[in-house]
Amino acid sequence: MTARLFPLFADLRDRTVLVVGGGSVARRKVAALLDTGARIVIGAPALDPGLAALADEGRIETIHGDFDAAWLDDIWLVIAATDDGAVNRAIAATAETRRIWANVVDDAELSSIHLPARVERGPLQIAISSGGGAPMLARHLREQLETQFDESLGVLAELLRRSRASIRERLPDLPARRRFFDRILAGPIPALLRRGDAISAERALQANIGAASPVRGRVALVGAGPGDPGLLTLRALRLLNEADVILHDRLVSADVLALARRDAELIEVGKQVGGDHDATQSAIHRLLVDHTLAGKRVVRLKGGDPFVFGRGGEELEALRLHGIDFEVVPGITAAIACGAYAGIPLTHRDHAQSVRFVTAHTKSDDDGIDWRALAQDRQTLAFYMGVSGLERIRDRLIAHGRSASTPVALVENGTRASQRVITGTLGELPELARAHRVSAPAILFVGEVAALATRLHWFGATPLQRAPAPAARGEPLARAA
Ligand code: SAH
Repeated sequence: MTARLFPLFADLRDRTVLVVGGGSVARRKVAALLDTGARIVIGAPALDPGLAALADEGRIETIHGDFDAAWLDDIWLVIAATDDGAVNRAIAATAETRRIWANVVDDAELSSIHLPARVERGPLQIAISSGGGAPMLARHLREQLETQFDESLGVLAELLRRSRASIRERLPDLPARRRFFDRILAGPIPALLRRGDAISAERALQANIGAASPVRGRVALVGAGPGDPGLLTLRALRLLNEADVILHDRLVSADVLALARRDAELIEVGKQVGGDHDATQSAIHRLLVDHTLAGKRVVRLKGGDPFVFGRGGEELEALRLHGIDFEVVPGITAAIACGAYAGIPLTHRDHAQSVRFVTAHTKSDDDGIDWRALAQDRQTLAFYMGVSGLERIRDRLIAHGRSASTPVALVENGTRASQRVITGTLGELPELARAHRVSAPAILFVGEVAALATRLHWFGATPLQRAPAPAARGEPLARAA
């Protein structure tokens, strides 16, 4: 990977900037520097009329002649804007040894600092860089942004700047301040400014500041879906963008977490396999309550849907006990998502009139599961958390009458780039999983529809089939045609 440029905004007030070159390119660079408060010095044998006029007005200083290393004395930044490549190179080289930032016009390689394409609205600036590789693209984006952001944004930025101190004083707590600004920006003030009514906007802002008080945090219990971030709901995405704290399970994919607000605090509260689940659960309850009472906007992010084998209900009970407000955002549960991404329709007119979501995560024989009902045909079973209990699932279902030839499919890492689908029959299920080393997270489908994966698969790798015969273990795995 090539190194990235680091974006900075420079305070050039009363700092000397040298522009070498006296033509139109130099004039454009000087124009961009004029309102920065920098002391601008132009070095060139001759100046174009525009630059000469600026010099006459005393807005820039000039040095006449060819570039000399002594011009770099006491300089912070130099812009090489001559039409002579050798001179530009000499300027860049000298600046480098003197640790002075240098921009060589139209030469990304020689530049230690790049000047971005800019969109300006009052004090607000949006800077775009392509890293020097595609300046036309940056320019194109700038033109698009120019049409998107109207001039009133500058007035808004200025208004907020003037009120900054009083807002801070009123709301010293950062999350509370963030909520205040979210409310202001979603409220009528931007529209008032777009209509040019700065006086009403200012009055509305002052009224809001006066009424502002730190408010209590709240919790959103959010389903993150199975992994592919494209399967998040719009509401989940919005909440991830607003959250101060995100408590997430290990099951939540990195791609989803990457969409969280940059400065949100991410806390993984995943339960360790074999760990004490009840202790972990009460630690989660405590984290939820503590952060919320501290005024934070908390997102409790769970894989799939929070109410499907997610203990979401228990967490809400704990919040209710403390009188904390919450909302619940459903997510796409593993069975639905993995079915879709593996080409397994969960119901089918010819094969299955119902579907059941079952957890296989029970240890004892007296597990309270109605195996007789599960063993009935013309239904699809989706077993969550099943990887370690496949033997039992097979034995129970067959003992209660489901045929050993019933199709099954295991979907591992469903909807993610690493998705694997393994198809076979109920009778060979444990061997199937062992042969292909299936690991969590994986979901098991049992029923006629599981066989459709070999024909309807469309995402990721082609389904793997059947366990290799014992003698052939270790050979390349068979793949469906
Ligand atoms: N609330 C979650 C389920 C939590 S239980 C949901 O609605 O999906 C965890 C189980 O979900 C895992 O053991 C596995 O069986 C299943 N699972 C979750 N994500 C999965 C994925 N991306 N691929 C396959 N199975 C998944």
